[in-house]
Amino acid sequence: MPKATQTILEIDLNALGHNYQYILSQLQEGTEIMAVVKAFGYGSDAIAVAKELERLGVAYFAVAYAQEGVQLRDAGIQTPILVLHPQEVNFKTIINRCLEPCLYSQKMLHAFIGFAEKQEQKIYPVHLKFNTGLNRLGLAQDDVQEILSALEGSKAIKLRSVFSHLAASEDKQEEVFSLKQLDAFQKISKEIKTALSYTPFLHTLNTSGILNYPKAHYDMVRCGIGLYGFTNDAQTTSGLKPVATLKTVISQIHTLQKGDTLGYNRAFKAQKTTKTATLPIGHADGIARAYGNGVGWVSIKGHKAPISGNVCMDMIMVDITGIECEEGDEVIIFGKDTTAENLATAIGSISYETLTAISQRIQRVVIRS
Ligand SMILES: *Cc1c(COP(=O)(O)O)cnc(C)c1O
Repeated sequence: MPKATQTILEIDLNALGHNYQYILSQLQEGTEIMAVVKAFGYGSDAIAVAKELERLGVAYFAVAYAQEGVQLRDAGIQTPILVLHPQEVNFKTIINRCLEPCLYSQKMLHAFIGFAEKQEQKIYPVHLKFNTGLNRLGLAQDDVQEILSALEGSKAIKLRSVFSHLAASEDKQEEVFSLKQLDAFQKISKEIKTALSYTPFLHTLNTSGILNYPKAHYDMVRCGIGLYGFTNDAQTTSGLKPVATLKTVISQIHTLQKGDTLGYNRAFKAQKTTKTATLPIGHADGIARAYGNGVGWVSIKGHKAPISGNVCMDMIMVDITGIECEEGDEVIIFGKDTTAENLATAIGSISYETLTAISQRIQRVVIRS
């Protein structure tokens, strides 16, 4: 791999392919993957990721918002795309770009039917999301009969899938609650399937659900973080490869004498002669301010260099005392050795947040390792 000459986020498509095949190998026979590529593909590069997964034959994509689906369509993605959190204002875009809305309330369902009829749509694919305990978005079990009559009453839409989402799929201590959610989903989906003359597909698990509830794989699983290399389970994670590596370079090296201070608010005070390196990445790039003052670190030539002083908007300074390095040398912030999850843990966060925080200012470089 060429050495970084500026701050880049490397996206390794071979690691992605590896994770995709690995997760497929964990699924029940016949279960397919809906790849979740919201939030720029968990901060990576949604278009590069979606193109590679489409090439590998993924069944479906999911995004959070309509505009994310538009970007995939603009890039030539043809695979069906579920929009998890559509808004009425986007219905026109959704239909124009062949995106498939998740209808999560009666109001949303009726509004979409009305809109699709006005647009003279026939059997436009839609998905129903049921709330089984997360209490975030979703229809209630009590809505089923009314929904069924709405579906039967309109030729403008057709139900593609029925789904729900677990509140604590990663947490074995919440197994009783998760099983209750799965049971509720089972009842709802059975009621719908029995009433319809055709069969919508079912899906209810995210990455950690796939591992913890293999009996609930159904027709599809909605896999996000696992594709990018992380799961709730250390052993499974060790079978995956992180897709994103965040790299930068040393801009300048300073030697501080005892009593000198470093950075804003003079937050670091040298107790002895200290060598520091200034790096071109800061909180505006997704390095949370919480990493300052020794909480976070970077790797230079295999050595840990703690972040010293406060994180600035566009820069951080790291302590390189005792590390042989010079200006222009490559610095790894996270990747295979220090993972995004390791850094996240240091500030009480999770890999999801660390990955999606990487701002669009940082260039994405797509590679095949
Ligand atoms: C983001 C999301 C997922 C993916 O979850 P992972 O834990 O990243 O696999 C699945 N389903 C819904 C509804 C989501 O919002």
